[in-house]
Amino acid sequence: MKKTRTRAIPVLLLTAAFFVGIIYFVFNLSIHSSQWASEPTNGHLSDNDGLGNSGTITDRNGVILAQSIDGKRVYNDDYSTRCACLPVVGDNSVNNSTAIQTRYRSELSGYSFVFGLGLPSQFNSGQNIQLTIDSDVQRTAYEALGSNKGAVVVFNYKTGDILCLASTPTYDPYNKPEDIETNDAYEGAYLNRALSSAYPPGSTFKLVTSAAALRFLDDAEHREFDCTGSTEIGGRTINCYDVSGHVDMKDALMYSCNGYFAHLAVDLGKKQMTTQAGDMGFNNTWTIDGIVTGKSIYNVSKADDNDLAWSGVGQYTVLETPINMAIRSAAIANGGTSAKPMLIKNMSAPFGVSLPDRTSSEGRRILQKDIADKLSDMMDYTVQNYYGKGSFSSTLDVCAKTGTAEISESGSDAHAWVTGFTKDKDCPLAFAVIVENGNSGFGAAVPVASAVLNEAAKNYTE
Ligand SMILES: [Zn+2]
Repeated sequence: MKKTRTRAIPVLLLTAAFFVGIIYFVFNLSIHSSQWASEPTNGHLSDNDGLGNSGTITDRNGVILAQSIDGKRVYNDDYSTRCACLPVVGDNSVNNSTAIQTRYRSELSGYSFVFGLGLPSQFNSGQNIQLTIDSDVQRTAYEALGSNKGAVVVFNYKTGDILCLASTPTYDPYNKPEDIETNDAYEGAYLNRALSSAYPPGSTFKLVTSAAALRFLDDAEHREFDCTGSTEIGGRTINCYDVSGHVDMKDALMYSCNGYFAHLAVDLGKKQMTTQAGDMGFNNTWTIDGIVTGKSIYNVSKADDNDLAWSGVGQYTVLETPINMAIRSAAIANGGTSAKPMLIKNMSAPFGVSLPDRTSSEGRRILQKDIADKLSDMMDYTVQNYYGKGSFSSTLDVCAKTGTAEISESGSDAHAWVTGFTKDKDCPLAFAVIVENGNSGFGAAVPVASAVLNEAAKNYTE
């Protein structure tokens, strides 16, 4: 009897393992089957990598960006619109992980857990997606960036609607360049830089250092400094672009005095700088309608005083995504928190059954209201007294901060940034623009922002 029991144990263990395996498989099947079925490597798919029978993607104004006709995936008729919208919409491949046709492929293709992709085409069960983006704004950004690499984010900080999420280089989904993998001109063409690329933020980061000072230092606003064009911190020099003379915080931000903010960062110290940066989206990602952004980085754990000083002006090893920068400006505009950015305005139920438009909820608070309002006033003051309101728009009331971020590759021109927001109640937009190697925030990024904001405003003023 004892012997039989001993022999039964391995059999029982094997049987138990079998059932655990079955449960594991069924669990995985229910969770991942739609992705497995939609993989372009799946030989059972129809042509066009499984998109030949999928739902339609439109922009916020109903312009068709992608649809399926007779088993073929068809994109917008206009070449520039196709190129401009590719970073958001995607092509037939799944190379761009943040594109709608990658992230929402199973919903678009109408994958069913019961029927798989096996429904006949007349019963196309794919869901239609209406995006929040405006294809005209997206095309304006694409044309304004021209042959430069860069990105543009514009969103409504009251509703969360993302009007523009442009990224260059891009390409025509009908005609992917054969040398896309090897030609430097297409470097990162599978990325949406607006969401996924992180760059040194340069002087735009002075808004974070200002926020930290207003929060943690009692006399921050009235702290004054004599800028002679350079200052010594930790035994090495911090240079300014100009000699700003005697400045307080708002003048230091307007003239973008490095010395002022470098000293602030060191006075604040690593802990308070890191806390403020963390609250403002650094060392974290955002999730926008299920799409996870790249991470912005602020890490001064190994910094000496001079490094910490440089971090306060957005150099050292600080990196930021364009979307994070736009969310920061949105929060400044809107009393410390903005509506959660969203990319999908409407998604039909299966079989194209229409549903009401989605609405955004309030996003995470990244600033106290009084600090947000002070930063807003400083950005307004900077545009009024330094850049000129007319540099952005003849009709919109724009508040902004530029940045010209040095990069480590020797001989390369600095990245050009501008971020800000409109104060117009009926057109409340936040934005961030980067032109890689553009060399001057004011010279290269502001004209792009101006073109895009004027186009975006048509959604609210016409
Ligand atoms: Zn200075």
